[in-house]
Amino acid sequence: MCGPEVVETVHRRIGRRALLGSWGAAALTVAASGTVRAEPAVAAAIPAGRLIDLTHTLGPSFPVWPGNARFSMRPVAAYEFGGFLVNELSYWEHTGTHIDAPAHRVRGGATADVIPLEDLIAPLVVVDISERAAVDPEAVVTTEDIAGWERVHGRIPDRAVVAMHSRWQTRLAEGSAPGFGGDAADMLVRERNIVGIGVDTLSLDRMNDRLYPAHTAVLGAGRYGIEALANLDAVPPAGATVVIGAPKHAGATGGPCRVFAVVP
Ligand SMILES: [Zn+2]
Repeated sequence: MCGPEVVETVHRRIGRRALLGSWGAAALTVAASGTVRAEPAVAAAIPAGRLIDLTHTLGPSFPVWPGNARFSMRPVAAYEFGGFLVNELSYWEHTGTHIDAPAHRVRGGATADVIPLEDLIAPLVVVDISERAAVDPEAVVTTEDIAGWERVHGRIPDRAVVAMHSRWQTRLAEGSAPGFGGDAADMLVRERNIVGIGVDTLSLDRMNDRLYPAHTAVLGAGRYGIEALANLDAVPPAGATVVIGAPKHAGATGGPCRVFAVVP
């Protein structure tokens, strides 16, 4: 549930920052409450089809990083005994569409539960490297890819999430995958003031790069990563806003998220 004071706080924030335009308050109401409420103002403000779910449905068959346990779920209460259905979930934090908090890579880094709400709603920049990635599993987002995006769309907005679109969302079980190059990740943190980066693969880094330069650059700078994004082909390269429903267990190094985009 979402107390009226929470919604009120969120509305005041959006008023200050004017980040999202006319749909901002509606999106924030959804994010703050954790559930989509049957609120007429929300339904009226966001046209059908303009909310794009960037989240994979999580189940036991969803690929995980090599060595990680898979997601599992079993009922621990049933309608027949007491009147309610309840499942017990088991998963490692970095499962499904999920957030990497700074603490995932850096000792003493911020945990997911303390990431400010205003960092979890951001302009979404989508950098498409799918042509290269189709023929090269070792392809990475480069500083030239960022420059190419900016030549078409202008400078990356302040406090954006920059997502790699590799079209590998259906190839997650393969033993290699594209990711961000360390130089590009470093440049986004130092020169563009991003709040995070995202990928449609299982790792911010190219899967075979075991030095993890993109993880180190982004999480080391106190920013976050989003891994295993879905449906990036349904959002424009510029202009959308991403909302990340991050988990809030104390000490979280990350965890499954509901991630969606609001497309103008
Ligand atoms: Zn992760």
